[in-house]
Amino acid sequence: MKRILITGGAGFLGSHLCERLVNEGHDVICLDNFFTGSKNNISHLMGQTHFELIRHDIINPIYLEVDEIYNLACPASPVHYQYNPIKTIKTNVMGAINVLGIAKRTRAKVLQASTSEVYGDPDVHPQQESYWGRVNPIGIRSCYDEGKRAAECLMMDYRRQNAVHTKIARIFNTYGPRMAVNDGRVVSNFILQALQNRDITVYGDGSHTRSFCYASDLIDGIIRLMNAPDDFYGPVNLGNPDEFTILELARRVIDLTNSRSKIVFQPLPSDDPAQRKPDITLAREKLGWQPGISLEQGLVGTIAYFKEILKTA
Ligand code: NAD
Ligand code: UDP
Repeated sequence: MKRILITGGAGFLGSHLCERLVNEGHDVICLDNFFTGSKNNISHLMGQTHFELIRHDIINPIYLEVDEIYNLACPASPVHYQYNPIKTIKTNVMGAINVLGIAKRTRAKVLQASTSEVYGDPDVHPQQESYWGRVNPIGIRSCYDEGKRAAECLMMDYRRQNAVHTKIARIFNTYGPRMAVNDGRVVSNFILQALQNRDITVYGDGSHTRSFCYASDLIDGIIRLMNAPDDFYGPVNLGNPDEFTILELARRVIDLTNSRSKIVFQPLPSDDPAQRKPDITLAREKLGWQPGISLEQGLVGTIAYFKEILKTA
């Protein structure tokens, strides 16, 4: 049994990770400031002997004794990370420094939840880990993109300078149950709009692409990375390589929900990457990992979740 700290543990992905690791018999400490996370996501774990919750903001130092740290604290949706961009970059940079401080002192392993956003609006497709990216350093997404790039830099510098056992997962768009109703990302937006027969808001002409990974597949990937031998530390892409246009996604959601919603086109936000698809050769080779859940299967599970949420809202 290991003692494991999960920052951002009350969020969408963090709560699935807490649940998986508690079920595997580990002692889990969930740390969250509840900016986008919710106690509802982890209420089923509270009261279990091997689960602890700490309300804390990771931009402030904290002293804990742990074996492993998954650093997920950071709002992931563009709507939320742009709400207070200075706070977003502080969370990424100071949060990384604080978890690395714990790791240096306790010799814990640290896994950083990085992102496909480090590739920016890519001119290489699909994206491989060796690609350095095309990121606007001064745009509205920069607080997140550059914050995550700085966090990757810190992971590598603490590894080289202080021999901290760091690992970097570059996560591509992931969706599933427990995304917040007000999250604002495309999958939850479209499903909620379709279930309520409201207009489906496609930004731009709908030709932008994304590759969507289901939460359970992603959680499997990051746990495999944490448990991999220390000479494999990434960065490694984790995502589903099946690529869809946003218009295709809208049509699939309408079909699967039998919705009467109409598709409407709204202005594209600035710096919105035109295409995104992970090359997952490295994850396949080094982690024996690839996603198993198709977009259709994942959407069915996510639609069922939001139907229940709307019933109780
Ligand atoms: P989320 O917004 O649901 O979860 C983030 C969690 O971090 C929330 O519980 C929030 O309250 C908490 N948090 C934010 N700032 C904090 C702070 N300063 N101190 C403590 N807690 C704080 O998002 P998610 O989709 O679950 O993403 C989790 C992580 O994975 C994030 O780091 C995100 O950047 C990364 N990621 C997610 C995706 C995706 O598609 N879901 C893709 C790439 C990377
Ligand atoms: N998008 C959209 N309608 C929405 C929300 C998002 O068309 O209601 C588009 C957005 O412009 C982007 C894609 O869907 O091209 C994915 O957006 P999301 O916010 O989910 O994540 P991103 O990958 O951009 O961080």
